[in-house]
Amino acid sequence: MRLCVDADLCIGVGQCELLEPEIFRVDDDTGTSTVISAPILPNQRAEALVDQCPSGAIQIDPDVNPTPATPPDTD
Ligand code: SF4
Repeated sequence: MRLCVDADLCIGVGQCELLEPEIFRVDDDTGTSTVISAPILPNQRAEALVDQCPSGAIQIDPDVNPTPATPPDTD
């Protein structure tokens, strides 16, 4: 999975940068985190990072990880 940050939700706590300094950087000017490199992470690691963001700003990148199509309802 690949992650992205919603800057409107980020409160700049910096937990992401602490956990993954190669991926996230909190900008001193804006006070929000950005993704500086976007490796494909194992699902478990990506989901753990999403869970550890206190504001819900870290999200699964939908452009890289599209929601699988649901099969048609056969009822
Ligand atoms: S952990 Fe979440 S709220 Fe904190 S800086 Fe990172 S993206 Fe922003």
